Amino acid sequence: MMLELQMIKKTIISGEVLFVGAGPGDPELITLKGLKALQQAELVVYAGSLVNPALLDECRDDCALHDSAPLNLDQVLELLITGGRAGKKVVRLHTGDPALYGAIQEQMEALDAAGIDYRVIPGVTATFAAAASLKQELTLPGVSQTLVLTRLAGRTPVPDAEALHNIARVGGTICLYLSVGMMNKLVTGLLAGGVFTPRTPVAVVYRASWPDEKIVEGTLADIADLVADAGITRQALILVGEVLKARTQGVPEKSKLYDPDFAHGYRDKKC
Ligand code: SAH
Repeated sequence: MMLELQMIKKTIISGEVLFVGAGPGDPELITLKGLKALQQAELVVYAGSLVNPALLDECRDDCALHDSAPLNLDQVLELLITGGRAGKKVVRLHTGDPALYGAIQEQMEALDAAGIDYRVIPGVTATFAAAASLKQELTLPGVSQTLVLTRLAGRTPVPDAEALHNIARVGGTICLYLSVGMMNKLVTGLLAGGVFTPRTPVAVVYRASWPDEKIVEGTLADIADLVADAGITRQALILVGEVLKARTQGVPEKSKLYDPDFAHGYRDKKC
């Protein structure tokens, strides 16, 4: 029984690789499970370009730390597989949530081939950190009930059907990763969808949740210039859509969830 309890307490098991979402930057925005995995790990391979180094202070003194920024996929896999085979507790620390632009599928495939167990611990993605910094809900009744997470093509191409002018035909709320260096192209693509207009509001959040976070807000007409003036060329999230008007113009329609005349499974209608 004692042994069983001790086993349960271990977040990470020897010989296992845990893909952990580090969150957007603020070290307190990692999950409790992710933090415990870091504290127990014997080998950590972290994405140094965006993971806050303060998180690595949580690691044991004898934990081997490797920044994956200068490494290629084979070198990263070599570390994960050798660590796993040696029975080490291995953490692969990714920025935000590992499932978004994290290139984890190919790492998991290689671990499958090598017969090494792994799990994924989610994290707070940049979109939600940016929304929190703005104090902005992304889904508002009567305005938008759809959130699209996307990007412009960079070195990684985007399938034709998902080109921004096609995505923008839906309207809704659009959050763009990896694209702040291409603001003119982004604005052109969004307008070409025929739903957004030069008056559509846009917010750009640079390094959301970091001490040097910057917020730039404007419309599709002026956001490219505002971002250039602010000198933002990377590490920013772009949010687009009518929801962004709510902070200045109010909420057009209150949510049904807390409507006194609306009963649901957890609350009766007001009598
Ligand atoms: N897996 C990450 C995304 C990695 S791609 C996640 O879930 O957030 C890297 C891109 O994410 C950056 O170019 C930027 O667009 C965005 N990003 C990551 N951290 C950010 C932050 N703190 N603030 C704003 N954008 C961020």
